[in-house]
Amino acid sequence: MAKILYGKSVAENLEGRIVEKVRKYIEKGITPTLCVVRVGNNPEAEAYANSIEKIFKKLEIKINKINFDENISLNDFINEMNLLGINKDIHGILLLRPLSRNLEKLKAFQYIPPSKDVEGITYENLGKLMAGEDTFFPCTPQAVIELLDFYNIPIEGKNVVVVGRSISVGRPLSLLLLHRNATVTICHSKTIDLKFYTNMADFLIVAVGKPRIITEDMVKENGIVIDIGTNVVDGKLVGDVDFESVKNKVEAITPVPGGIGVITTRILALNLLKAIEKNEDRN
Ligand code: NAP
Repeated sequence: MAKILYGKSVAENLEGRIVEKVRKYIEKGITPTLCVVRVGNNPEAEAYANSIEKIFKKLEIKINKINFDENISLNDFINEMNLLGINKDIHGILLLRPLSRNLEKLKAFQYIPPSKDVEGITYENLGKLMAGEDTFFPCTPQAVIELLDFYNIPIEGKNVVVVGRSISVGRPLSLLLLHRNATVTICHSKTIDLKFYTNMADFLIVAVGKPRIITEDMVKENGIVIDIGTNVVDGKLVGDVDFESVKNKVEAITPVPGGIGVITTRILALNLLKAIEKNEDRN
């Protein structure tokens, strides 16, 4: 049976690093603070904000919550972002999804001040990622890299297949893997014969959002499978990979829940600390 790559051990290891850095900043009189912005009253966004708050409290990181009206105009939103940008007590901004339809259509996320864009979603930070420069890397893709590094799984030279090409997960992850010298193939909904590609993958990384789309016959014997997908089926959280059958064939696999998801929030905390560091370097 495959080695199970639990995210909890990775998260605990990262927490050690985070708490040490946070305490150093607090000693210097800086309280690391994340501003969590919600537009409207979506209950899922609120639940996500609460879960981050709980974890960040343990890490001694302060959260400031702001809730904008569902009908906020783009102009007012940009003004609010600019104010947060110059607010010295706020080090990072997390813009919760979903946004209102209007703000989504106008791609409001691009108005987050790039120096506080701890999710790495602005065009400036995505461009830096593309150029191979150090920046805020999107949290879920970076969580995959941290997991591989934690378990001492070398990336260089590996034949990696990423299924999913979203702007927040599949695409930035492919670039991060490329920067680590993997040979990367990106698959998506229009890929013809997905199995042809997945069967060749030393590492198969799946971010689709369709329960158990990857089955045992689609993975390479002794390959490594990382499942980013989260789906609710009959009230239970499951991944994009049919874990029960695939685990008998591959060398290592992440579980859902308990895999990548638990690492992501710690990457958000590390990005917040990086924002403070970058700000100190500028001054
Ligand atoms: P998304 O924006 O919906 O993108 C899904 C991607 O999957 C698209 O690129 C799509 O292709 C591709 N796809 C859809 N059907 C496919 C098929 N039959 N075969 C191959 N590719 C297919 O989703 P996302 O935001 O990237 O999220 C993906 C999953 O990861 C979701 O389950 C989400 O909940 C989960 N997630 C987890 C975390 C975490 O921390 N654990 C964080 C973020 C996301 P096209 O581009 O052609 O449409």
